[in-house]
Amino acid sequence: MKNKGSKLIIVSAPSGCGKGTIMKAVFNDSDVFYSVSCTTRPPRPEDTDGVTYHFLTVEEFEEKIAEGEFLEYAKYSENYYGTPKTPVEKNMAEGRDVILEIETQGAFQVKELRPDAVSLFILPPSVAELDRRLHKRGTEDEKTIKKRVSQAAGEIAKADRYDYVIMNDDLDAAIADFRAVIDGIKGDTEPAVRFSPENEEVKKMIEEVLKNA
Ligand code: 5GP
Repeated sequence: MKNKGSKLIIVSAPSGCGKGTIMKAVFNDSDVFYSVSCTTRPPRPEDTDGVTYHFLTVEEFEEKIAEGEFLEYAKYSENYYGTPKTPVEKNMAEGRDVILEIETQGAFQVKELRPDAVSLFILPPSVAELDRRLHKRGTEDEKTIKKRVSQAAGEIAKADRYDYVIMNDDLDAAIADFRAVIDGIKGDTEPAVRFSPENEEVKKMIEEVLKNA
């Protein structure tokens, strides 16, 4: 029987926003399904095939596109990324909330297909801070970092199309805000409308982050 309560939750954040840390803290031991995406980007040292991503060749990825196996897919930084459809449908049918950690193009595709999906964007405190965090992480070369930062600015400019927007300035505060949004989405509390981009404060926050980008 389909559980009416299961939610499809889209989370987008430019790399370096601390998305992983926030999500781990909030969903620690809850029974949510994290969708494992397919990608054609090369694995990083912290990646495990089948756990962080399913790593595919371009041919394999394009075959899956042709077979209609993706709920959404996009090209980002010259690599394909896509959400396998079957595990999402199966877990939702089993009553689990499903989390998609995807970039903006994919997020908008999912919203088109599934208007019941709820989307959340995590902002960095500023584009300059994002640049600093990416340098500190040290997993990408200078050229890639530059590209990621300009891509991030482009994504942040679309944050006002999400249902909720929070900022990771202070980690504990971001975790509390994320939790408030999720509790609202699940109906445990009233919707956390203070994080809606229809709120003037949130609009201003997005503009501030983009300053000097
Ligand atoms: P990274 O290469 O840093 O792991 O991810 C780059 C971007 O791709 C991130 O914004 C991440 O959220 C996004 N991404 C990961 N999986 C998917 C997916 O299945 N579909 C889409 N559209 N984006 C994804």
